Amino acid sequence: MWTIIGTWRMAKEGVEEGAKLLAQGSSALDALENAVKAVENDPYYKSVGYGGLPNEEKEVELDAGFMDGDTLGFGAVCAIRDVANPVSVARRLSQENVNCVLVGSGATQYALNNGFEKKDMLTERAEEFYQKRLEEMKKELNAYRGHDTVGMLAVDAQGSMGAATSTSGLFMKKRGRVGDSPLIGSGLYADSEVGAATATGLGEDLMKGCISYEIVTLMKQGLHPQKACEKAVSELEEKLKRRHGSCSDLSVIALNNKGEWGCATNIDNFAVSVATEDGCKVYHVVRKEGYCEAVEADRAWVDLRVEE
Ligand code: ASP
Repeated sequence: MWTIIGTWRMAKEGVEEGAKLLAQGSSALDALENAVKAVENDPYYKSVGYGGLPNEEKEVELDAGFMDGDTLGFGAVCAIRDVANPVSVARRLSQENVNCVLVGSGATQYALNNGFEKKDMLTERAEEFYQKRLEEMKKELNAYRGHDTVGMLAVDAQGSMGAATSTSGLFMKKRGRVGDSPLIGSGLYADSEVGAATATGLGEDLMKGCISYEIVTLMKQGLHPQKACEKAVSELEEKLKRRHGSCSDLSVIALNNKGEWGCATNIDNFAVSVATEDGCKVYHVVRKEGYCEAVEADRAWVDLRVEE
């Protein structure tokens, strides 16, 4: 038994890549790194890796996190620039005992010193979006529309688990801004004795609930991943509305060490990509009264390669 699951439709090709490796007996960690790299390398997706949208200075600053659910080893890079695969750097850092989270020029320097590929991550297409948004911002208050994170979770045939994330964060963010995605407990968490979780949405709100750790804790208490996701999202949303005055997008997925998975959201367009021995499927996460339902997406929608 093995399973790999990722946030959004954009995870699909990566999840398929990871599934191939898992089917051949690879570790969850190898599958995750390769799966996330596939998304980072695809210039079509504007919120991850190459082709990701820039900050307000027109710089592509990327965040990635990686967690080994066996050792609890954790690594992350925040606001890294000019490096092709931030997730691979995060994975390497997860093997260290100190200096596991590196930011900005320190992260870039570490990557280049350790042989990771250098690459200008700004594409022409991303630059066009940037120019267009500059115009829109003259009339519009919400500059930050346009963000998503690829977060992936896997359990391999040995029962080992991991979690990995990668994102360009908020479009038009301040230089140096970091969201939840590279932060242990908020953007991702994995514990092979229980399960793993990852999040996407407005980092500033997801962080207030340390939501990935919360979901793993709920699974440890015996909740199915689906119930754990629903409870974590609905409680954080309620708490933020009551105490903070607002709550933005919160979407999560979880996987336990038996291969059972779950997903929940407070928005209308969240989707998940899941692969098991039975194949790869993409689901819309549909909000119902008090719960969320994963409804399989039709082929035409999947083939559109939409960016949610
Ligand atoms: N959570 C990411 C961030 O705040 C963005 C997203 O997943 O949509 O950087």
